[in-house]
Amino acid sequence: MVSEPSRTSLFPPPQVGSAPGWPVVLYFHHVDPDIRHYTSVTPAAFDAALARLGERFAALAPEAVDGVLGGGGHPGPSCLVTFDDGYADVFEHALPIMERRGWRAVHFVSVDLVGTVEEHPVRGPLRHMTWDDLAELQRRGHVVASHASTHRPFSGLGAQEVRREVDRARSVLAERLPGARDWLAYPFGEPPRDPVAGLPPLCFGSVKAPALAWDAAPREIRRTYLPADEQGQWESCMTEWRRAWTPSTSH
Ligand SMILES: [Zn+2]
Repeated sequence: MVSEPSRTSLFPPPQVGSAPGWPVVLYFHHVDPDIRHYTSVTPAAFDAALARLGERFAALAPEAVDGVLGGGGHPGPSCLVTFDDGYADVFEHALPIMERRGWRAVHFVSVDLVGTVEEHPVRGPLRHMTWDDLAELQRRGHVVASHASTHRPFSGLGAQEVRREVDRARSVLAERLPGARDWLAYPFGEPPRDPVAGLPPLCFGSVKAPALAWDAAPREIRRTYLPADEQGQWESCMTEWRRAWTPSTSH
């Protein structure tokens, strides 16, 4: 078992998955033939990833998350796929692949960016899904949830500003997208520096978060990723993630 790192240490590597008996949660940003980023894969690589994941893990449906939380974990190796930022390439490329392979995902969107084209300093112009796209995702079994309003890291905001980010995203999602869940993924995986009242009951961090039981730390659930440029590491990642269900290594 990997010990819990302190905030000042290096982040746990992507091979660190979840606390014993809890689903491993993956995050991606893009599924696109041309975008290079540490959590962005080509459609072919995403298809291969789901194939290999499907051999080792049950695909955790987003609507099963509440039951996992209330039930204290999942009895067998399971994996929840999530996407951050709501990019249009995910709708275009990842959706048909997931449907063909029997996966559904949680899509965390920043409400001010829905339907916009973002001028990214490195990745160039990036189209975000529209409200119609997000409604279509819901109709096809996916869950849409909050990535706050403006996509600023909470670690750099005061408590009141964080509260405004969260509350406004919640009310916009409730109005524009009935059925969206009151879950949050922190922009940049950065939780607030100080405790903030009114956060959603489930908040997802990134690879920066320690692997703790969801019911012990529901406001910073670890998510990890398949290193996009190092497919040679995928095997070791999946092997390590499965150890969360191996009794001999859980203590
Ligand atoms: Zn983001």
